[in-house]
Amino acid sequence: MSNLFCEGLTENDINKLLSAPKSDLHNHSTKGCRRKWLAERLRIEMPEPPQALYGLDGMQVWFRSFIKPLCDGYENMLIRWEGAFAEAKRNHIARLVLNFGTAEIDQVGSVEAFKKIIEGYHEAYCPDTVFEAELTYPSCCDAGYEAERIDQYTSLGYFKAIDICGGENVQPFEAFLPLYRKAEEYHLVKKMHVGETGSAEDVRKAVEILGLSEIHHGINSSVSKDTMRFLADNHIQLNICPSSNIMLGYVKDYKTHPIKILVENGVAVTINTDDLLIFDSTIENEYLALYRAGTLSVKQLDEIRLAGLQSLQI
Ligand SMILES: [Zn+2]
Repeated sequence: MSNLFCEGLTENDINKLLSAPKSDLHNHSTKGCRRKWLAERLRIEMPEPPQALYGLDGMQVWFRSFIKPLCDGYENMLIRWEGAFAEAKRNHIARLVLNFGTAEIDQVGSVEAFKKIIEGYHEAYCPDTVFEAELTYPSCCDAGYEAERIDQYTSLGYFKAIDICGGENVQPFEAFLPLYRKAEEYHLVKKMHVGETGSAEDVRKAVEILGLSEIHHGINSSVSKDTMRFLADNHIQLNICPSSNIMLGYVKDYKTHPIKILVENGVAVTINTDDLLIFDSTIENEYLALYRAGTLSVKQLDEIRLAGLQSLQI
């Protein structure tokens, strides 16, 4: 166990928690910076989020109404990306995965130019952080069309994973097969947003049909012993974002967060921020909130922290 991390939890010492190496494996890059960092950088006031955002639709309405107008446009998108790396430095994120939509990459012009910008921030803020770029598509996308043009994003080898976001059950899982087959050719880690609003059965189906090895959210797996056993047996990792789940109204509070049931049933989980700019809960706060609520023990939280750092020599 890491003394620094464990002491940070038990002593409520934020500096110790900030100093301990952690990961953030689910972070939507354009919403991945800290609200206060962005407000200071842009020299503006930014409103705090309300306690409840009423689902993904409510979140989008709030973001588009109150946050986006303050930091819209190409230059501000770059600043928000920069802020995600600034937060990785501040919070000792030793392993960081950011996801990027193709429309965002297209704004830069080419994947080469995009990589140059992103690696510039990576080098400037946290060169020791293992960084992985993830390509994300909206769930309403035409997967056949996107599969035809995925090469322009993946041929450089910069993207390490693929994801689908933006609402579940918009199309059957089979519809995404062309895209995931192409992703496999490029050896991308196959992930998807599923089981946040969808069912435990959806989680299992998505894994079986698309060959996923990681799931963003997947919290509703906790209602099915069979699905949890399936996930545990197949070493499928769930990247969980507690504050996101609570603020969107999918989970009542930290105390009753299903991460406890998932952990106790042997499912591999990590703890992540999702949309830091919206939910305003930094990674150390996610761990602390679960500890304070009595959801998980220090030992369990430290094991989750270490699971997020797997493959790294920390
Ligand atoms: Zn997400």
